[in-house]
Amino acid sequence: MIFIGCHLSVSKGYAAMGETMVGFGGNTFAFFTRNPRGGKSRELPPEDASALLQLLEREQFGPLVAHGSYTMNLCAAKPETRANGLDMLQKDLQRMEALPGNYYNFHPGSHVGQGAEAGISLIADALNQNLQSEMQTTVLLETMAGKGSEMGGTFEELRAIIDRVDCQERLGVCLDTCHVWDAGYDLVTDLDGVLTEFDRIIGLERLYAIHLNDSKNDLGSHKDRHEKLGLGCLGEAALKRIVTHPALSGKPFILETPNDDEGYIKEIQMVKDWVELA
Ligand code: FE
Ligand code: FE
Ligand code: ZN
Repeated sequence: MIFIGCHLSVSKGYAAMGETMVGFGGNTFAFFTRNPRGGKSRELPPEDASALLQLLEREQFGPLVAHGSYTMNLCAAKPETRANGLDMLQKDLQRMEALPGNYYNFHPGSHVGQGAEAGISLIADALNQNLQSEMQTTVLLETMAGKGSEMGGTFEELRAIIDRVDCQERLGVCLDTCHVWDAGYDLVTDLDGVLTEFDRIIGLERLYAIHLNDSKNDLGSHKDRHEKLGLGCLGEAALKRIVTHPALSGKPFILETPNDDEGYIKEIQMVKDWVELA
């Protein structure tokens, strides 16, 4: 058994995404809380939330992994951009409260010339303004490829952010396999070593979700270009070891591969087969 799904569009509503994923053969999904590039968010009426919650229960879905907007940069150099990001974070987390028990993942941000130290403290400040122990959502920092001034390209940077957050019980990490590989962690020849390193620096108990992607680029390329499963530099054998690794079992795996619906349906089935035949 594995929790596997992909990103879905919220354009037809929230419960509709659950129906779509049942049709795809999956049992979790991700969605952008607002247009990934623009700022508009989709309202979540109570009827839609309760219809989705019923479906999640009935179909025994794993936790959902909502995704914050790419435009949300909590450590931007411009105060207006930071304020805008804070506003998105606050509203997104408010909306997520209607779907208790699920996850909200976001890209830590880019420090754009201010330096990693400044980035870490701005991201932690934003989280300290928004995380509370009464919340029903766990907020996840995504591991990043370390492109440009992007934060979260090393486990140490994520640890440094976590260390400065007061409400750590509502904070975790989402491991993106393409990003981690592009950041220089060798998931192909040393998966155990990477997970041991993750455990030593961050702690595996903070790992809540996986973005399951192949990568178009080589180890340490810092590029962040996703590939379909098995067609990239990670390859099928390494991805199989990832989805069947005991340290990762029971966590939601989200595909963010360049696919249409047909492609996602095939990949979901393929991953289920890998787990079943392992
Ligand atoms: Fe992401
Ligand atoms: Fe990702
Ligand atoms: Zn990516």
